[in-house]
Amino acid sequence: TTFQTLQLSRPVLKGLAQLGYVKPSPIQSASIPIALLGKDIVAGAQTGSGKTAAYMIPIIERLLYKPSKVPSTRVIVLTPTRELAIQVCDVGKKLSQFINNLNFGLAVGGLNLRQQELQLKSRPDIVIATPGRLIDHIRNSPSFSIDNLEVLVIDEADRMLDEGFQAELTEILSLIPKYKRQTLLFSATMNTKIQDLIQLSLQKPVRIMI
Ligand code: AMP
Repeated sequence: TTFQTLQLSRPVLKGLAQLGYVKPSPIQSASIPIALLGKDIVAGAQTGSGKTAAYMIPIIERLLYKPSKVPSTRVIVLTPTRELAIQVCDVGKKLSQFINNLNFGLAVGGLNLRQQELQLKSRPDIVIATPGRLIDHIRNSPSFSIDNLEVLVIDEADRMLDEGFQAELTEILSLIPKYKRQTLLFSATMNTKIQDLIQLSLQKPVRIMI
């Protein structure tokens, strides 16, 4: 497969070319068509497999084809660490660099809370977050809301549980009914705790094991 055969839009293909991605990685070839259909996915994917673009490309395509009239946060990507969140945000911005009016925001610990609040006030389309800080903002930032959430990504789900974010994850999941959103879950390992999280967060997921 090539990225062309995945039927991606011109600006996304340009973004991929700019990044120097020529051929989709196996996780990208498998995930992108299914995610574009709006289905839930659980994918076994290691770091280095290209999982970030595997979820970011279909998300960008969705936002491009179904623009919203009012600014609202439509996508949340949850990551276990601030460092990963910053990397994911960087990849997303590069992939969408030829698209206007697509905004990214960060909600992560260790960065200034007030500054983030200001940024989130503009309701960025895509917010990359760590669970604890996201809950902080949902509770305490009056102008931020996830009421219009369409897609939730749980990246490195196994690490998220290892870091002790179970309660925060459960709280976030309870705020948005799962039949109302598309959920994409990526994990390097699949143990019973992950199976419980899958049960809780996904609806009839397609399982992709590379
Ligand atoms: P990730 O697993 O998303 O952290 O990606 C691992 C590395 O592979 C990153 O440095 C990406 O920039 C790179 N990468 C991801 N997808 C591709 C691709 N299709 N072609 C070339 N490099 C890629």
